[in-house]
Amino acid sequence: MTHGRDDSHHLGGPTEKCGVVGVALGSRSAARPLYYSLYALQHRGQESAGIVTHDGFQQHSHVQMGLVGDAFSADDLNELNGSAGIGHVRYPTAGDVSKSCAQPFAVSFKSGSLGLAHNGNLVNADELRDELENYGHAFTSTGDTEVIAHDLARNLLEEDLVRAVKRTMERIHGSYALTIMHDETVLGVRDPEGNRPLCIGKLDDGYVLASESAAIDTLDGELVRDVKPGELVVLAPDGSGFDSYQLIEQENTAHCFFEHIYFARPDSVMNDSLVYEVRRGLGRKLWEENGVDTDVVMPVPDSGRAFASGYAEAAQEDDATVEFAEGLMKNRYVGRTFIMPTQDERERAVRLKLNPIKSTVEGRSVTIIDDSIVRGTTSNQLVELLREAGAEEVHMRIGAPPIIAPCYMGINMATREELIASDKSVEEVRETIGADSLAYLSIDAVSDVLEKSRSDLCLGCVTGEYPYDIDGETTDRDVSRPVVGSNAPTQ
Ligand code: SF4
Repeated sequence: MTHGRDDSHHLGGPTEKCGVVGVALGSRSAARPLYYSLYALQHRGQESAGIVTHDGFQQHSHVQMGLVGDAFSADDLNELNGSAGIGHVRYPTAGDVSKSCAQPFAVSFKSGSLGLAHNGNLVNADELRDELENYGHAFTSTGDTEVIAHDLARNLLEEDLVRAVKRTMERIHGSYALTIMHDETVLGVRDPEGNRPLCIGKLDDGYVLASESAAIDTLDGELVRDVKPGELVVLAPDGSGFDSYQLIEQENTAHCFFEHIYFARPDSVMNDSLVYEVRRGLGRKLWEENGVDTDVVMPVPDSGRAFASGYAEAAQEDDATVEFAEGLMKNRYVGRTFIMPTQDERERAVRLKLNPIKSTVEGRSVTIIDDSIVRGTTSNQLVELLREAGAEEVHMRIGAPPIIAPCYMGINMATREELIASDKSVEEVRETIGADSLAYLSIDAVSDVLEKSRSDLCLGCVTGEYPYDIDGETTDRDVSRPVVGSNAPTQ
């Protein structure tokens, strides 16, 4: 079970999947730029970190469990030769928590070497694995990334690089943003629905692919654009440019709306919008839809901050006396190593992590703003903390719709049984967490602020209907998984 683990910027919230990066530079070693960009993507995965490079002759790989800062020594980086490479930070989403599932996944096969870093989750990995095993492929991990690597390796025996990637894309079903290394060529691929983010950046002496633009900023680069859904981007090994191939065209996309709400760094630009501003916009909408008059508006640190700033700004336009204050102080040193497998320990953890500023809340009516409610434990504890600190009223506003269903696309969202809103009305959730009032943002508001129609977003966790064909779940569009495994020889 991974969802009991703490997360760096949210208290017991959904946990991030993975971050991927790839660089091709003129002559400079790729190892350090990859290492710095993984640092920038650390929030997307804290379980393991890895880099694979290629020096024109052979592949070099270093993959370790742990945080980026712990996973690489200076010597490790010096041994990662070559001016092109890919990197990965991982939070386990498919496969078990062991080094065999850590990434990038690296293999050598008949037509060269292959490295693969994957963000997302395939929903038809088992069918593909069965088929490939029937063809004689031996797997070393339980993850879905190895399935993609084997399928691609197989296709590369018969096709050129671009066609081989296309063939694999036509067989895999689910969410993926990939950075791939075939010998010294670095590629980036985004699934046809564009569920997971991936963008292209330009450096002085090369190009970079990354899950988020904050990684490009860290390298002093410039964001060129997002990789398009269904697009393959091939970086020139000498760092001089990139080629684009639109391999699969699809009418609708299925961007994960939660990236904008919670997962991505606020300083990243996604879909041409700064994530921080999107969150502020969602906060403003929250006030418009469900504002409540109170003395003070406070964010739940750190996840509610941008929402609260937008909400309070809109509230102050209506009533200048509303105060916007940081009334909850976070202990930053209760970190990721704090593992809380039981409900009881999770409850105690809130006390360890947050302390209310009494003078801000005593005798006043308070609105606290957060980005989401998952199990409700944290919200319940927060309300209690504020009442104990003397708040007269505690209202809660949430910058996302109620989460009612799990995620199959690579987010550790908790199970249906654990999700407080899966079988409770808003009023019942309010009662459970003990707030004087509770309101969420509507799905229409999310679609409005993200400037995407509902049919271009994945809303699976808030509607229970998914943009992919998942066993036992309903879909929100006309979609079916490719038929694979039927023509495999049996041995
Ligand atoms: S189900 Fe929710 S968290 Fe998962 S991809 Fe869809 S929107 Fe994102």
